[in-house]
Amino acid sequence: MPTDLLREVWGFDAFRPGQQEIVEAVAAGRDVLAIMPTGGGKSLCFQLPALMRDGVTLVISPLIALMRDQVGALKASGVAAGALTSGHTEAESDEVFSALRDGSLKLLYMAPERLAAGGTLPLLRRAGVSAIAVDEAHCVSAWGHDFRPDYLRIGELRRALGVPLAAFTATADAETRGEIIARLFDGAVPQVFLHGFDRPNIHLAFAAKDGPRAQILDFAAARAGQSGIVYCATRARTETLAAALNAAGQPAISYHGGMEAEARREAEGRFQREDGLIVAATVAFGMGIDKPDIRWVAHADLPKSIESYYQEIGRAGRDGAPAETLTLFGTDDIRLRRSQIDEGLADDSRKSADHGRLNALLGLADAPGCRRQVLLRYFGEDTAPCGNCDHCDRPPELWDATEAVRKALSAMLRSGEWFGAGHVIDILTGSATEKVKARGHDQLPTFGVGRDLSKGEWQGVIRQMLGRDLCRPDPERHGALRITPDAHPVLRGETSVSLKRDALAKRAPRPEPRAMVAEEDAGLLSALKARRRALAEAQRVPAYVVFPD
Ligand code: ADP
Ligand code: MG
Ligand code: ZN
Repeated sequence: MPTDLLREVWGFDAFRPGQQEIVEAVAAGRDVLAIMPTGGGKSLCFQLPALMRDGVTLVISPLIALMRDQVGALKASGVAAGALTSGHTEAESDEVFSALRDGSLKLLYMAPERLAAGGTLPLLRRAGVSAIAVDEAHCVSAWGHDFRPDYLRIGELRRALGVPLAAFTATADAETRGEIIARLFDGAVPQVFLHGFDRPNIHLAFAAKDGPRAQILDFAAARAGQSGIVYCATRARTETLAAALNAAGQPAISYHGGMEAEARREAEGRFQREDGLIVAATVAFGMGIDKPDIRWVAHADLPKSIESYYQEIGRAGRDGAPAETLTLFGTDDIRLRRSQIDEGLADDSRKSADHGRLNALLGLADAPGCRRQVLLRYFGEDTAPCGNCDHCDRPPELWDATEAVRKALSAMLRSGEWFGAGHVIDILTGSATEKVKARGHDQLPTFGVGRDLSKGEWQGVIRQMLGRDLCRPDPERHGALRITPDAHPVLRGETSVSLKRDALAKRAPRPEPRAMVAEEDAGLLSALKARRRALAEAQRVPAYVVFPD
């Protein structure tokens, strides 16, 4: 299954727009020309099918640096890949030859120049090459700036080997496309994939969680009689939400991977057949669903990544008629997703990529401008403001939150980076709870400096700080918030931060805030670090020891 490989080998939770169709066509052995923007994810479209097919996939790539990157990444994921180029050492080449001989190699990268060498064709025949992938296929076009004469040999090679060929490029103009088809496919007509990624009929909207169950019930009630999906992070929540919807007079069923296969098939069947049924589901729901008139998709919890988000909302409005979406997210979601990544089995480079993908989703959730612009730009496509998202409907209110962010960072630092958002907010708002008093945090210089904002507003500030990766929960400290290097320039007063005002944040009475000495806090940061390091080294004090001011 392509989605299993996607998860197990690449660690991705969903295909990007367009990828799945291309992967399926290439895996089925069809000739393919795929046009996708830069950064859209073309490599995966030939790498994944290579693992699904017998034999070796030959990848023609114009640059040694590109080949090195891709082969390195594949090997790191446990895929047998190698390159034969002038830039690789003899030892590296020997390794590739031996993997070719014992039939273990799945992807063989080569520069087009190599095709001119006499021994290459017999070598590829012996190796059992069963498919060719051409990356940067516009290099075959004499019109572009990247013309590489040796790309012209590929057509010949394809004929000689008699295997399917898949060509990939980001250059979409008709002339180049025509040339690629003529020169690489030799008169055969490939299946062409040239889709914009946009689904303009889908309305995009996000909201901070503020009583999520009521928010979802309201959203569904406003669309009564229409088929919709509510995605939930847990199995339990699919059940409680379905029950709540039914109690509110909205016919709903739940769906998750823990249900018997029989029950799942029945739920899928009912959803396909019945009008106006709601499914409260985990992400297990949707793969096999082919219902064109799903009118809305809501996320009761933050999805895993931008890719998952787009795949899940993309199930709405396949008939092209207007469809609505609403994605809820809160501080807890961000904490949960961050710890899931940190506690996962993946290695560090994959973890940091996962954090990056989560950051991209959070950037979308708290974006100040048009959602669709942010979303499509992530997939490499540029567009004008869409006129069909919550922010195009009504631009959000922004405010200069630099001081608020500095106060929050200081409160985290001064309490030793050992506490979660609730406690940090208690310190900021001057709430002398038992826990605050027990730790002496009512004596901190940051105690009460944030009385100008309500607790709800502080939740919004900290959520957006998490979203911008200014602070992160540390799984080794039960999710306590710790500041990241990105926060240092803010603490030092070198960058300002503008945040969205949560429309939902509840207002509180506003006593005068206490002043705070900011420079002192910036210094405190490095002083604390140095002290912790020095003490740890000198006395072997465990890293979790908290130092008072
Ligand atoms: P292109 O060749 O189209 O410019 P790449 O193949 O280099 O794009 O992919 C761009 C980035 O997108 C890479 O970092 C890749 O790991 C990432 N990527 C590709 N597909 C997915 C996916 N389904 N989910 C998450 N990330 C993806
Ligand atoms: Mg590429
Ligand atoms: Zn918009």
